[in-house]
Amino acid sequence: MIAECSSIITALKSGSETGPMPVLFVGHGNPMNAIQDTAFSTVWDALGPRLPRPEAILCISAHWLTPGETRVSVTTRPKTIHDFSGFPYQLFEQRYPAPGAPGIARQVLELVDDRRVIADDRWGLDHGAWSVLGRMFPAADIPVFQLSLDYRMTPMDHYQMASQLKPLRDQGVLIMGSGNLVHNLKAMRSDGQPYDWAVAFDGKMAEFMDRGEDLAVVNFQKLGDLAKKAHPTWDHILPLVYTLAQRDETDRVNFFNAGFDLASISMRSVILSQ
Ligand code: ZN
Repeated sequence: MIAECSSIITALKSGSETGPMPVLFVGHGNPMNAIQDTAFSTVWDALGPRLPRPEAILCISAHWLTPGETRVSVTTRPKTIHDFSGFPYQLFEQRYPAPGAPGIARQVLELVDDRRVIADDRWGLDHGAWSVLGRMFPAADIPVFQLSLDYRMTPMDHYQMASQLKPLRDQGVLIMGSGNLVHNLKAMRSDGQPYDWAVAFDGKMAEFMDRGEDLAVVNFQKLGDLAKKAHPTWDHILPLVYTLAQRDETDRVNFFNAGFDLASISMRSVILSQ
């Protein structure tokens, strides 16, 4: 894990301070990563301070699904949403009091040309956002807003819409997809090795990204049964589509937190940087 983390740091240090913001896909996994020092959360701790300080953070989380429309949060004070059950009370006491970014959020309404995006003042920050950001940016002093996932859109539609957000990178906005590269909750088990199908899907996605074949990731369903096992539903892979849609030819792709939790959750995370 240490070697992986230092490779990210090397990648970031060789980048230009004035170039576009890096782009992240973070495997968030178990919400307990927010309050426990795990192999994954300690890498989030190390990564946050090494990123260029963002003007704002746009999080596309697996946990905000809005079938039939896309919503962007324009609240000035987003509330912390505890969208899970069965966890210790300490997790429910967590708050991430970062301000919203209504000005930049409203730019999203302009950037996306088909008017499918609606301004939203009800959502706050779900655990896909705050469990990670609470570790990466614990001071909670960088404005954060979320964009929802229209679960009726195809992955390619998501990719095309997400590519319209590219100008935000040049304004210092950190775009962060938050999901998991393999996510099958029914198959979770606390003992033993990750499933062969989980390792196979995770490996293929990593290969595609390494080779710059992002559309093969977007079209993950072409992997048939392997894709169905890795993602019985799409919510946790769609945020990766938003990350890859920001990719420029000059970006390098690096992985961190490669590994599995509970045999069927890939924590592999992605950083695009120049
Ligand atoms: Zn999740």
